[in-house]
Amino acid sequence: MSDRESVDVLVIGSGIGGGTFAAGLAPTGAKIVILERGERLRDSREARDPRAIFQRGVYRPDESWLDGAGQAFNPGNYYYVGGNSKLYGAVLLRYRAEDFSPIQYRDGATTGWPFAYDELEPWYTQAEKLYQVRGALGFDKTEPRHSGPYPFAEVPDEPAIAVARERMQRVGLHPFPLPLGVDIERWLEGGQTPWDAFPDTGHGKMDAENCGVNVALAHANVELRVGARVDRLLVDPDGRRIAGAEVVKDGERREIFAKIVVLAAGAVNSAALLLRSGERGIANRSDNVGRHFMNHNASAVLAVDPFKVNDSVYQKTLGINDFYLGDGRGGPPLGNIQLLGRVSAPILKSNLAWAPEWALALMTRRTVDWYAMSEDLPSPESRVTVDGAQIRLDWKRSNWSAHEGLVATFKERLRAAGYPIVLAKPFDRRTPSHQCGTVRIGDDPATSPLDPYCRAHDHPNLFVVDASFLPTSAAVNPSLTIAAQALRVADHIAENDL
Ligand SMILES: Cc1cc2nc3c(=O)[nH]c(=O)nc-3n(C[C@H](O)[C@H](O)[C@H](O)COP(=O)(O)OP(=O)(O)OC[C@H]3O[C@@H](n4cnc5c(N)ncnc54)[C@H](O)[C@@H]3O)c2cc1C
Repeated sequence: MSDRESVDVLVIGSGIGGGTFAAGLAPTGAKIVILERGERLRDSREARDPRAIFQRGVYRPDESWLDGAGQAFNPGNYYYVGGNSKLYGAVLLRYRAEDFSPIQYRDGATTGWPFAYDELEPWYTQAEKLYQVRGALGFDKTEPRHSGPYPFAEVPDEPAIAVARERMQRVGLHPFPLPLGVDIERWLEGGQTPWDAFPDTGHGKMDAENCGVNVALAHANVELRVGARVDRLLVDPDGRRIAGAEVVKDGERREIFAKIVVLAAGAVNSAALLLRSGERGIANRSDNVGRHFMNHNASAVLAVDPFKVNDSVYQKTLGINDFYLGDGRGGPPLGNIQLLGRVSAPILKSNLAWAPEWALALMTRRTVDWYAMSEDLPSPESRVTVDGAQIRLDWKRSNWSAHEGLVATFKERLRAAGYPIVLAKPFDRRTPSHQCGTVRIGDDPATSPLDPYCRAHDHPNLFVVDASFLPTSAAVNPSLTIAAQALRVADHIAENDL
């Protein structure tokens, strides 16, 4: 008997892209194997211990990448079943309809998408069902058309956050309930902590393991292999079809063949894998694989009111889009603002190692913590390259003046709202949380590796469905858009390729 293994669909990576795709394709009955380099994240005391998570970095990978200057850094990129969504903030916002068209900023422009918002809308609705999104329509002026309501009512504001909401309204802003993939009662049963950047070990976060992989595994035709790292894609001698993948599991290297290969290893790792798999890379006739890396310009903005205690636990229920489509003064867009998960003294200390925790606790008790996010624009010089197994991430930030404008404008409003001290700090390069764009979709094979259904222009049986495909980063969190497109691609494959 030959030990040559052949399947219908090989999915590489079990994050939002891969996990959701598998859930979408599973009902077809196709034989699907998901290869995931990480393991399932088990419950432990560390899962709710901010010192373990933020100071000791127990969930971070034992891996280093090089930055553009050749300096090694340990990336906040998580390798588990469910990928980065195991630690995500579960904000499940749609891109705004305007994000699909070119946008002019102060210092640059986006190219837009190869299709309009309405094309993706039905799958946004499906993705919101799959991820059991909690939200409320009608509060955000930038909200795109929804063909149905959210599956569940919004997560309630804690009392201290209800006060913050009123303060924002008093200075003319329009806070809206953040759409969230969290069952708050279940989350708090696991411990009185926020969920943003805390690992989900089965306590109510709607991540790609619970809502993607496990949904797919309810079908007998789907199999998950953990600890299975793909090192290379295999190409047929004709150079067109992808034959399968070379996988290392339990120290053993083997080849698995497939009719269809769906890459979903994350925007940095998918690009790296494609580049490593051929002399000029795979799917890289355009020389665009690894280019156009984007990651959002993001800052933490801490608003301190010395006379008001913030006793909230999870905090993360408000968004503000007043500066999303314009700066409020007739100028170009600045970005989105949303609450961060509650920043406690042990979390803040991971950035301010010199400060005593008791002093930080005095401050954080009186702080409301926000996250300001601006679009990062696609640039061919912002890129992932490889040297053997080593990944180099040369992220060229763009659109920084829009981000500075967002932070400055928001600081003004916070001061007017009664927070006399406002501190802001940009997130640094070691945090590629919103990585995207490295294997983008487009109509033109000369400028994009993938077609609008995420199929490689060069290889008819290769698809890339993680955040790599995003042609723009918008200024909202990426996961719901990755999930919607993964479901759209699954339906397309079911109709055309199986
Ligand atoms: C702290 C944090 C907070 C965030 N908050 C939000 C939020 O509130 N809302 C939001 O929308 N987004 C948020 N994000 C971003 C979001 O998590 C990501 O955009 C999303 O999870 C990306 O999904 P993906 O499928 O592109 O890739 P990934 O999540 O990176 O999944 C890729 C998977 O592939 C596996 N893999 C990698 N290489 C290989 C290989 N060679 N072989 C086999 N398997 C491999 C990985 O282990 C991983 O499981 C956050 C991220 C972080 C880190």
